Amino acid sequence: MTITLLGAAGDVTGSAYWIEEGGDALLVDFGLFQGVKMAEDRNRLLRGLNVGRLRAVVLTHAHLDHTGRLPLLVEGGYQGPIYATPATRELTELILHDSARIQISDLDRVNRKRQRQAKPALEPLYTPEHVSTVLSLFRALDYEQVEEVLPGIEVRLVEAGHMLGSATVELTVRRGVPPRVLVFSGDLGPWGAPIIRDPVPIERADVVFLESTYGDRDHRPLAETIAEFKEILRAAVEQKGKILVPTFAVGRAQVIMYVLAGMVHDGSLPKFPAFLDSPMALEATRIYSRHPELYDEEMLELLKTRHKGPCLQTVTPSVTADDSRALNDQAGPCLIMAGAGMCNAGRILHHLKQNLWRPETWVVIVGYQGPGSLGRQLVDGKKMVSVLGERVAVQAQVRTLGGFSAHAGQADLLRWFGGMAASGPRVILTHGEERGREALAAQLKQRHGIEAERPSAFEPIEV
Ligand SMILES: [Zn+2]
Repeated sequence: MTITLLGAAGDVTGSAYWIEEGGDALLVDFGLFQGVKMAEDRNRLLRGLNVGRLRAVVLTHAHLDHTGRLPLLVEGGYQGPIYATPATRELTELILHDSARIQISDLDRVNRKRQRQAKPALEPLYTPEHVSTVLSLFRALDYEQVEEVLPGIEVRLVEAGHMLGSATVELTVRRGVPPRVLVFSGDLGPWGAPIIRDPVPIERADVVFLESTYGDRDHRPLAETIAEFKEILRAAVEQKGKILVPTFAVGRAQVIMYVLAGMVHDGSLPKFPAFLDSPMALEATRIYSRHPELYDEEMLELLKTRHKGPCLQTVTPSVTADDSRALNDQAGPCLIMAGAGMCNAGRILHHLKQNLWRPETWVVIVGYQGPGSLGRQLVDGKKMVSVLGERVAVQAQVRTLGGFSAHAGQADLLRWFGGMAASGPRVILTHGEERGREALAAQLKQRHGIEAERPSAFEPIEV
């Protein structure tokens, strides 16, 4: 059996494992490379990749960096099954349609420019039709249900605690004696994250592909982060300022709403106007509310004591462009959550342009900000930034809260691995920058005497 990483080797995007044995191939995830131009070659279907051999695809979770290249398989002729939890299917539908829409609108702009330069137009990576075909191939697989996806190869999905529907993929290969167990951690969540359940460690593995996004550090504890968030909100409410929270639509937005609802309900924060200015986050919230079977005990307890889910009770949805524009006239104090999470697109840009120059504005950064993004410039303390083509002075107060991460920190990665450590698996570290992989490898060596491997993309791994 040969396994090849088609991405997320030494970085964190483009997750994909191509598994080949006896002429059959299986894919675990097929994510987009982000932070590069979508139309770049890295995001095209790879030359030499024999899609004709592909028999099944299994998904760990819906994030674009794990699902964003799936439509390319359809273009390449793939018509086999794509296995995922039901929640992952629903969220993937939302995320891939959004991705196709963004590509078309981005390319429109690029192609108008290319036309003026007498250059040929670029094609989008895929269209909404490709996305619809991809969705028709999905087969629901519940957690803990064992399914034979290929003769002699069984798959089981286990809770990964990273986002709604997220899973660790366990493959049991019964082609030969004794059977071998391959585990793909997927993105692992931290223990104690709001709304969703904690990750469930797996007891035995022969080989484990372990994510290492935060292999070199721990996040600030959630309780401290919530306390700091509350202090910021109190100060802003007192100043009658606007609080802008750039947020990722799936996962982070729901956590922020949950935390906000908690503060208002326990009386530690006065009720004040809060808006979710993101149609995509609203749709993601609807999907979250359809899956109470995936909630943790705390969330279920909350649902029992209140009739509605806590998420949207304290937050007003802002759906249309007019709704969004109307928020310009909304007096403070108020809180506005809008995408994109890194302030590189979307409605948050309008709110930043309108409010960054006002000293009574607060910007609260709750997620990762990629190098070069507007969000990163704000975190780095730039005093003048360019927003929607206009220079705007930053007089707002900018605060960063690191504890809302959906990823396990180093201690939780080791806790998860501890569940299978006694079975002495071969460990292959993926989905992390080099410093994350190195630090996690050092810990695994020190605690378990394991020499973890750190392969490059396209380096065949014989199992
Ligand atoms: Zn993820």
